[in-house]
Amino acid sequence: MLLKLPGAVTAAVSMSFEGLFMNISGKTSVYGIIGFPVSHSFSPAMHNAGFCQAGVDAVYVPWQVAPADLPDAVKGLRSLGVAGFNVTIPHKSAVMDHLDEVSEGAAVAGAVNTVINREGRLIGHNTDGAGLLLALERSLQFTPVGRDLLVLGAGGAARGAVAAFAAAGASSVSILNRTLNKAEKICTDMERYFIDVKFVAVSDDDIERLPVSPDLLVNATSLGMDGADLDSICLAKLGNAVKVYDMVYSSVQTPLCRAARAEGMEASDGLGMLAAQGELAFELWTGGAPAPGLFISALYNSIKISKT
Ligand code: NAP
Repeated sequence: MLLKLPGAVTAAVSMSFEGLFMNISGKTSVYGIIGFPVSHSFSPAMHNAGFCQAGVDAVYVPWQVAPADLPDAVKGLRSLGVAGFNVTIPHKSAVMDHLDEVSEGAAVAGAVNTVINREGRLIGHNTDGAGLLLALERSLQFTPVGRDLLVLGAGGAARGAVAAFAAAGASSVSILNRTLNKAEKICTDMERYFIDVKFVAVSDDDIERLPVSPDLLVNATSLGMDGADLDSICLAKLGNAVKVYDMVYSSVQTPLCRAARAEGMEASDGLGMLAAQGELAFELWTGGAPAPGLFISALYNSIKISKT
């Protein structure tokens, strides 16, 4: 995805990093992200830019938490009075056992990526699904109502995407995965919640068995993250009316976006989703949305810095 950013937004991001930590006091709210590993996370750049720009007295930091330490880490965050935190791989499902409450959306998706501390009660939400829907609307002008979708992968990101599409009124969602029984399990779980949506599981050598030609293909596998070509699916068989959304993100074209555009398909990578899930988490915590374009601009800036 190539975005032309307004000069004012770029300036706001650069300004926000000047003197960011100068005014930390006993009143500053602390937010952060837990994951393993977490050093690659771009979330601190987005949220700290958001706090600065909105004049919120808060700071956002990354915490590396090994899986065995998760229960103690969540207890620690609670007793330190942390105002809220994001959760990333591999803790999105496991963290649910350590919270006081989870939203309905997070329960259906089976994953939490955002936690709010409400007077000592930790409440889990999932902004990944809504972030994906927002990104699809913004970058591909796509809404799932009455449409047929094909999701590649059956991990946590795929499960969240399937739940979001079903909740948003998709007609059918097919899940194509190397390990068929994981795709079948998602279908069985979702059928309990969404009786009007058709769910189909197919293995990756069986694409001919798709019931309909999809309107949208979403890559929710980790394929393409290392820049290698994604050859598990023959795009030409889908017809060029299909739009392609790659959850994998990059400052340059992802292999799937490159291949889709070569077939004449409209395609976008996952940076917009990353920004949108962050914007929605920020809104849950502060009650206000960050300035339009600020989070994606912060993302581009920190990706640029990470590559130098
Ligand atoms: P996950 O739970 O580990 O699932 C990985 C999926 O990829 C599984 O379905 C796995 O298939 C498949 N896969 C991995 N290697 C493969 C290979 N060589 N050939 C075929 N399939 C393969 O990971 P996740 O949390 O769902 O994340 C998936 C991707 O989405 C990651 O790239 C992540 O960065 C991205 N993501 C992006 C955003 C965003 O905001 N843009 C948000 C969430 C996730 P098996 O089941 O057969 O192992």
